[in-house]
Amino acid sequence: LKKPNVVILGAGYGGLMTTVRLQKLVGMNEANITLVNKNDYHYETTWLHEASAGTLHHDRVRYPISDVIDRNKVNFVKDTVVKILPDEKKVLMENGELSYDYLVIALGFESETFGIKGLKEYAFSISNVNAARQIREHIEYQFATYNTEEEKREERLTIVVGGAGFTGIEFLGELVNRLPQLCREYDIDPHKVRVICVEAAPTALPGFDPELVEYAVGQLERKGVEFKIGTAIKECTPDGIIVAKGDDVEEIKAGTVVWAAGVRGSRVVDESGFEAMRGRIKVDPFLRVPGREDIFVVGDCSLVINEETNRPYPPTAQIAMQEGELCAKNLAVLIRQQGELQPFRPDIKGTVCSLGHDDAIGVVFGKKLWGTKASFMKKVIDNRALYLIGGPSLVMKKGKFKFF
Ligand code: FAD
Repeated sequence: LKKPNVVILGAGYGGLMTTVRLQKLVGMNEANITLVNKNDYHYETTWLHEASAGTLHHDRVRYPISDVIDRNKVNFVKDTVVKILPDEKKVLMENGELSYDYLVIALGFESETFGIKGLKEYAFSISNVNAARQIREHIEYQFATYNTEEEKREERLTIVVGGAGFTGIEFLGELVNRLPQLCREYDIDPHKVRVICVEAAPTALPGFDPELVEYAVGQLERKGVEFKIGTAIKECTPDGIIVAKGDDVEEIKAGTVVWAAGVRGSRVVDESGFEAMRGRIKVDPFLRVPGREDIFVVGDCSLVINEETNRPYPPTAQIAMQEGELCAKNLAVLIRQQGELQPFRPDIKGTVCSLGHDDAIGVVFGKKLWGTKASFMKKVIDNRALYLIGGPSLVMKKGKFKFF
């Protein structure tokens, strides 16, 4: 019997989880497993706001993929996927192509700017290690430049965050902890620094418990964040942003604009001709592309409907990892032609949103948490994600043990 080729695209939470589980489930003689990823490292996407603010070095948020895969069973290819040809069962990459019998699409998310003028050109987005490093460096450059100019430009010290959703709030929490250090380092009066968060929705953290939202906003305001809620970004320019609240239009001059209000699935999905909504494919119960029994989709490129609310589950690392786990099991069933495929049933344990390393809000197992308890829980969740992919040795290498 010919060994099937299993090709997994992307080594984020979804793709790496699929790989490490599959390498345990099947033997060397049962399948050829190939993992393709842009970089030879995996990064913890859920920690990127820390690297972006500069509160955690970017090397702390990534680790070599070779640390967690079994080289005897998994062939790792460092390359960028350009297109999938489902009829020919092929994947085109920048430097070659691969044929598959079973494919797993786990290419993650990209920033979505909804056509707002100038955002793509002038705003940053917290989307990967390169972007995080650039945001940190850019903010630091603004601070370093401020005192070198004869005519002081205070807008260099203004940072706008577009979006008070999960990512925006987590980034703000880190930023307000980092800014006092930057002010000391570059001899800057902290009163000259402005951090503005612009959110189009009528509340910060839409969908979160209102009492917890009030706590989060209050804590960030206390540390200097100005919130402009119910205010939409209309345009981003080289000098800042233009916002509107009803008929009131305002220009905010800012040296740094970080867009944290929109994500979509990978553009590779759209460009490969799959039926998708902004790069997200509505998968069948077994996580496959409808009508394509040989292609699974996990993580932010997949769209799963929550039957209770009839709305899609928001894309999260929690879901990506659970999908990866199930995808590996279903692949093993197909490889062995034994057993039955299992449907995906997400088990949402809760959500915790950090407000810096020392504060957070969350709902875990239905219980509301805030302050140090929530912050402790956040680190437990972060360490658990490492444990699920790389076991105790990865937790020892990369885990977060400074709890308060
Ligand atoms: P990703 O983690 O995006 O991984 C995709 C992988 O594919 C990457 O390794 C990438 O390099 C690779 N790749 C992409 N394109 C290509 C290509 N063309 N060729 C080759 N390789 C490619 N979720 C939570 O559950 N809890 C949280 O607390 C939380 N916090 C977050 C904080 C921030 C700042 C952000 C940005 C997101 C957060 N999320 C959180 C969401 C979560 O990170 C995502 O849902 C999760 O990363 C999705 O996992 P994934 O495997 O689909 O994709």
